[in-house]
Amino acid sequence: MQSPGGKFTRNMILGMELTTAGFIVVIALIAVASWYGYTRLNSLSSQLVELDAELASTTALLQGNIAEATSSLGSAIERQNQNVQTQLGGVQEQVGSITGTVTDLQKLSKTDPELLAKYSKVFFLSDNYAPARLVEIPVEFRYTEKKLLQIIPEVLPYLKKMLDRAKDDGVELYVDSAYRSFATQEALKGQYAVTYGAGTANQFSADQGYSEHQLGTTVDLMTTGTGGALDGFDRTAAYTWVSDNAYRYGFVLSYPKNNGYYVFEPWHWRFVGVKLATDLHRSGKYFYTLDQRAIDNYLISLFD
Ligand SMILES: [Zn+2]
Repeated sequence: MQSPGGKFTRNMILGMELTTAGFIVVIALIAVASWYGYTRLNSLSSQLVELDAELASTTALLQGNIAEATSSLGSAIERQNQNVQTQLGGVQEQVGSITGTVTDLQKLSKTDPELLAKYSKVFFLSDNYAPARLVEIPVEFRYTEKKLLQIIPEVLPYLKKMLDRAKDDGVELYVDSAYRSFATQEALKGQYAVTYGAGTANQFSADQGYSEHQLGTTVDLMTTGTGGALDGFDRTAAYTWVSDNAYRYGFVLSYPKNNGYYVFEPWHWRFVGVKLATDLHRSGKYFYTLDQRAIDNYLISLFD
């Protein structure tokens, strides 16, 4: 006998078998999928690591390149900068030297070149020449108080200093004569000629136009004890002092003993500037033996 329950059981068993088989298939599929996924993930992961390493090395390379470019750009700028600085320095130097030259030229243009020219029997000064300005020599420096004496203003401070210093050293030193115009010199010469005769007058009073007194930079010095005479000045303590010290104040003896231009005039001192006076004093030379071109070089420092 076949009960309906027997068929049911068979069907149930078949169903369960089918279910189990399906389940196994599903499990298998899941396993395969998982394995595939895992493998794929692994591969992707290692590719990612490779890419990462590649990126790092590319980045490092680029950074290296940028650093190199920056450095070479920096040194190029530095070189350019140095070039500009060098050129600028050269320009500044040129500007400086031009400025110096302009200053020297201005200084020279304001300095009367006649003040360092030679005037004697050989070198002539124009009869029209007169200093641009003259000032009075203060009364305390004059041998004869009432006799007005003039000198150019630039020389006066040097003269004052020299005479003050002489006084401090206990030396009596005064000015007896200073600026003399062409006309005054002419009259003086005539006067000497009448008194001493033309020959003698020629020996100790320069013809007008040859006299350094016309420049306003020259003085005849005098001391006490000679009875108011220029003659004999070279035998006084004042002469010794002035011979030793005048150069410090820019004064030189124009006509020393045995000079080839003129009679010895120990009282006659001309301002030529401290530099030239010092050089003459040290070398034992005198103004008229120097070449005019050598003298001209001192014009710029005449009042320094
Ligand atoms: Zn004189």
